[in-house]
This record gives sequence, structure tokens and C-alpha cells, in this order.
Amino acid sequence: MIRKKIGKSYLELVQGNITEQDTEAIVNAANERLAPGGGVAGAIHRAAGPSLWEECKKLGGCKTGEAKLTSGHNLRATYVIHTVGPVYSGRDKDSEDLKNSYKNSLKLATEKNIRSVSFPSISTGAFGYPVDEAARIALETVVEYLKKDGVELVRFVLFGKKDFSVYQQTLQKIGTEGRI
Ligand code: ADP
Repeated sequence: MIRKKIGKSYLELVQGNITEQDTEAIVNAANERLAPGGGVAGAIHRAAGPSLWEECKKLGGCKTGEAKLTSGHNLRATYVIHTVGPVYSGRDKDSEDLKNSYKNSLKLATEKNIRSVSFPSISTGAFGYPVDEAARIALETVVEYLKKDGVELVRFVLFGKKDFSVYQQTLQKIGTEGRI
């Protein structure tokens, strides 16, 4: 586990399963329909129970880069923030969309007075975003946000050992200044 102080907040990197986290909210790397599917979304819907999908159905989907809130149902987390990352295409817009996913998730948390949030590595599974580039965007965006705004704890929960070490190395390069 890695823990760094940024402004008045903490940034943590852990290797593990996001469905088991005790932060007030966990973030789902969702699809535009907010449907269960595979990967981290499938795991979150399984752990939360079928009532999460019932709640999601009423939200009218979610566009790439945006974020929507539901309750956590059977999860330890009180809330789930659903955000849709970009499907990697190699175009400039990918990085903007990925940045917006992190930023809009944090904004929603701040608006709802949510004090702690766990993120997965958005877009780096089925959506094909190269993990080293995605880690840089994710960490830069979160560090920049935490310097100004109030979420007390942001935890990245990396599923694999390899992803954990990429995030760890990227954070070392960025430092707490937020730019490589
Ligand atoms: P996307 O469609 O945004 O690429 P995926 O769910 O396919 O989303 O993958 C995003 C990341 O989430 C991948 O690094 C994947 O290994 C990871 N992941 C899958 N299941 C879990 C889980 N239970 N907890 C945390 N991370 C997970």
C-alpha cells in the first residue's frame, strides 16, 4: 500500500478488489447503458445484488466522460459512482474523455459530501487504453483535483500486480506536483 498526502487529502494505491473497499463510494468503470456486463462492472453488480441494475435502469444511461450516482445496495460502500471511460482509439480525444471521467466522478463526490472514493483503472480492460498512459492521466487528474478540492481520501484499487506497479512508478514520477 502506498499513501501520500496531497493538500489536506490522502491518495492511496492498493492492489485488490474494488468491491471489498470500505470507502464511502466506489467508482464503476461502466458502459453507456450502465448495464452489468463483464470486468469491474460485472464484479460490482454481482456484489451489490440485482437491485443495483434496477436502480441503474432508471438513470437513462451515461455518456462517455460523465458520471452518475446510485446507492451501494449490498456493497460495503454507501454509494456507487458510475462513469464511462473512453474506448481507446488512439485519438487526442481519448485523454480528454478519460480525464473527464475522473474529474466528473470527483466533482459528483464533492457535491454529495462523499469523503472517500475508490477508483479502478478506468478504460484499461475491455476498453483497451494502454495502462501506462491511463495511469499518468488518472494520477495527474486526481492530484490536481485534491490540491484544490475536498475529497478526504482517494484510493486507486488495482486488480493486478503489474497494474499496481505501473501506478506506483507513475506516481513516483509525478510526485505531488501533478505533472510529469
Ligand atoms: P473498461 O471497460 O473501462 O476497460 P474493465 O472492467 O474491462 O473496464 O477493466 C478496467 C480495470 O478494472 C482493469 O484493469 C481490470 O483488470 C480491473 N478490474 C476488473 N475487476 C476488478 C475488481 N473486482 N476490482 C478492481 N479492478 C478490477
